[in-house]
Amino acid sequence: MTLLAGKKGIVMGVANDHSIAWGISKLASEWGADMVFSYQNVLLKKRVATLAESIGCFDAVVECDVSKEGHIKQLMDFAAKKFGKIDFIVHSLAYSDKKELQGPYYNTSRKNFLNAMDISVYSFTETCREALPILNEGASLMTLTYLGSQRVLPNYNVMGVAKAALEASTRYLAVDMGKHNIRVNAVSPGPIKTLAASVIGDFDKMLQCGEKASPIHRCTTIEDVGGFACFLMSDYSQAITGGVHYVDAGYNIMGMSEEI
Ligand code: NAD
Repeated sequence: MTLLAGKKGIVMGVANDHSIAWGISKLASEWGADMVFSYQNVLLKKRVATLAESIGCFDAVVECDVSKEGHIKQLMDFAAKKFGKIDFIVHSLAYSDKKELQGPYYNTSRKNFLNAMDISVYSFTETCREALPILNEGASLMTLTYLGSQRVLPNYNVMGVAKAALEASTRYLAVDMGKHNIRVNAVSPGPIKTLAASVIGDFDKMLQCGEKASPIHRCTTIEDVGGFACFLMSDYSQAITGGVHYVDAGYNIMGMSEEI
């Protein structure tokens, strides 16, 4: 398995073995990549370190709460010390107060709006900027988004607005980073049962709807996302940048389900 042999990168957003970031990491490791991992806070340190070691990444975890000044720079310094230069970054994190992921969107508070934007959107911009000195030419950076950026999904609320901003950021970053022959993309999976998803009101309905209405009638898995992310990290996607790429069994193309 040599698709990613010799490639080194950073994975942000592993919380447990259900995380999308973990699905990506497992596949990337199978294809030969070496990685460092950031964890949000000390409560996650041991779990993330154990997962990293299970795929052969030792002494490879560092704390990075993206809302804290200087943490993203520290992550880059850690990766630089371990690898010198790197070839990919996976940014797989988002946050909103769970109380605001239900009911009307207009109830979003200023505090949560700004916090959601800071953690879920601005952090990717800061990551790209701080990473620039340690990126190899041809590097591939990716973030995780969701269809709620383009369409209204009940209860997704401020997170939909944040994902719209994240997708716009991806396009601006693709132009800036393109000058250095570095690619920036957003991957948009269908609903997957993870820790972050479990706080969205009526999330099970999103899962059921995805399975029922998508052209191939199946849910998305973290391995589905991992496979596509590995393609984006690989040299076979050198001409792909600035895009939002759906990995959702085709759900995004539907205007109306065949089954009602
Ligand atoms: P997850 O709970 O496994 O991962 C979310 C991660 O965000 C966690 O590791 C958490 O520690 C991290 N995080 C939150 N606040 C942070 C902070 N201040 N600093 C650093 N890290 C922080 O859930 P997931 O579903 O794997 O989410 C990963 C990404 O995928 C998110 O951007 C999410 O919006 C996106 N996404 C998820 C789905 C889905 O249905 N699960 C669908 C499309 C997109």
